Amino acid sequence: MSSLIDTLPEPLGAVRVASAQPGVRIITIDNPPVNALSFALSAELLAAVEAAEGDASVRAAIFTGANGIFSGGADVNDFATEPSDGTVTIRDVVARVGRGTKTYVAAIDGNALGGGLELALACDYRIATARAKLGLPEIKLGLIPGAAGTQRLPRLIGAQDALQLMLTGESIKADDAQKKGIVDEVVADDVSGAALTLVERVLASEPKRRIAERTARLGIANLGLLATPFVVAQAHTMVPSEENGGFAAHKLIDAVQAAIELPFARGIAREARLFDELVRSAPSEALRHVFFAERELTKIPDLPPAQAREIRTAAVIGAGTMGTGIAITFAQAGLPVVVIEPSDSAVEKARATIFGMFKHHVDKGRLTQQEAWKRANAITFEEDFAALGDADVIVEAVFEAMDVKKDVFAKLDGAAKPGAVLASNTSTLDIDEIAATTARPEQVLGLHFFAPANIMKLLEIVRGKATSPQTLVTGMKLAKTLRKIGVVSANAFGFIGNRMLFAYERQAIELAEEGVAPARVDAVMKERFGFAMGPFAVADLSGLDVYRHIERAAGEQLGRTPIVERLVSQGRLGQKSGAGFFRYDKAIGKGREPIPDPEVAALIGQLASEAKTVPSADISDDEIIARLTRVLTETGADLLRTGVALRAGDVDLVWIYGYGFPPHRGGPMWYAEHA
Ligand code: NAD
Repeated sequence: MSSLIDTLPEPLGAVRVASAQPGVRIITIDNPPVNALSFALSAELLAAVEAAEGDASVRAAIFTGANGIFSGGADVNDFATEPSDGTVTIRDVVARVGRGTKTYVAAIDGNALGGGLELALACDYRIATARAKLGLPEIKLGLIPGAAGTQRLPRLIGAQDALQLMLTGESIKADDAQKKGIVDEVVADDVSGAALTLVERVLASEPKRRIAERTARLGIANLGLLATPFVVAQAHTMVPSEENGGFAAHKLIDAVQAAIELPFARGIAREARLFDELVRSAPSEALRHVFFAERELTKIPDLPPAQAREIRTAAVIGAGTMGTGIAITFAQAGLPVVVIEPSDSAVEKARATIFGMFKHHVDKGRLTQQEAWKRANAITFEEDFAALGDADVIVEAVFEAMDVKKDVFAKLDGAAKPGAVLASNTSTLDIDEIAATTARPEQVLGLHFFAPANIMKLLEIVRGKATSPQTLVTGMKLAKTLRKIGVVSANAFGFIGNRMLFAYERQAIELAEEGVAPARVDAVMKERFGFAMGPFAVADLSGLDVYRHIERAAGEQLGRTPIVERLVSQGRLGQKSGAGFFRYDKAIGKGREPIPDPEVAALIGQLASEAKTVPSADISDDEIIARLTRVLTETGADLLRTGVALRAGDVDLVWIYGYGFPPHRGGPMWYAEHA
């Protein structure tokens, strides 16, 4: 195709313009790595569009992207900048294309996301390669599409489908997008060539097809226009409340309502007002902080350059709760994994969990039967450590006891191939002490997964004293392969997350001792603050016996919590025994629903009077939140001071991805500064 193109004399920096055949321009976005539509790039794009509009010989223009991608959308850095008078944004480009007199075609390969897709929607035609993905992910940053996406998409595919796509922020593949009516044609390859053919065809007949001129449909059969208020009201009830993470979702629904009810120009004005409000909102700022914190993760200041080792096969020792989840995680990433487990009943249980998990994916349509079968079969069970010889990484997930771990690592040393990464999933034990049992401590590190390991995104990567740079970067690369958020922690009791958890749980117990019912603490932290679970439900889920075991092992560092001692001595171990801080009933919520228990209230009262704690009648919801978040921040600050955590953003990510801290509050450290 290059022979067709004679590049115009003055190519425009990151936007290249070529004339492909008489009367047709190709405008290529070239801003590696993701063709972000920064202010600067938008100015160039606008100039290219103006030039095409100003040239009477031009009949059509094709937008396309270099670097194997159409565009990843706006530059997130720009959201923090107040556009000044001369600033050009993608909104201006989209508006100019929308007003344009030429025929516009978007030729999409790779991703067309956010502003990228909005540019494509302003065009008359969209053509995509089969590997292309399209989406409007703005909601993930607490925003809504701000370049007419909320007005054009409902007009193109109906309000219901448009809302669903924009509320989830997920991207869809080209063939799905074609089924929904977002793209006109899907091609195997050479999307620019196919766009040229399309231009030739449409110029001869009816070239212009502006979405803005259409009326938005609800997209729900058998409901007349009168149904709009009903559907809109329904949508508002289906997203979280404005205060609790749903701020942008409600604005998005408002914008889509405008698309249904208002003329295009007024809808655009409404969208712009809502977007501008969101971009300055605290939840969006917090979510953008999370976005940037994730991009900092791999920067380890004192780490000499090192090449990560190739990980092709994995092994897990112990097929308990964690080992099984970790094995599934490896299999999901396409890595074959050997699991060493001596107990037949544990193997049986693990097999059932694995089978159930992959069946669930097939039922949900996420995997084909064949693919699920292949992945489930990538997990094999063995008894003998001799089966470890091939593994590039070995993750130990046996009981949380130092002597058991030491025994395993001593045996691992003899069985693992040279260079293999040896990891422990310990929650609290000393990685250096474990590493010292091997002849290769430089290859040992902690890989601390969170339960359920195949679902939770967090992976703490624990750097021991002897851990080599190569071992550490291999751990970080592995996190990426497993699609985890890998946060590096120094080797310290409880690492980052659990150290904060212990302080948080103790504070929750103190509140209870002062007379606040556990159910109220949990309700405030869940419903008002936005945690996925309250602290007492978390304790019951992890197991109070585990908590007591950790307290005992930690000795002075943690002290003792009499209430936990007492509950465990009564056989109240948490969810698994049907009672802990709460009661559980198999008939209610599959035995996972916490039910307040008067016996626990009485016990707390008794312990408080023994300790001469005076119950306080007037602890407010705000005080509950303030006290529980304060201990998180104070412990986080301690971890930063002592070098256990590298950055405040790392601490925030640990609590968002490992402990259900509400992302729209930015994590404990961000919250402390911005609340
Ligand atoms: P678990 O009791 O469910 O499983 C441990 C498994 O290891 C058992 O199946 C046991 O048969 C097997 N095992 C014991 N000794 C072995 C040996 N020498 N060789 C091979 N297999 C052996 O425990 P779990 O909850 O999965 O925890 C495992 C590890 O993960 C612990 O270190 C724990 O602290 C850590 N961890 C647990 C959680 C959690 O929420 N459960 C979260 C993060 C980390």
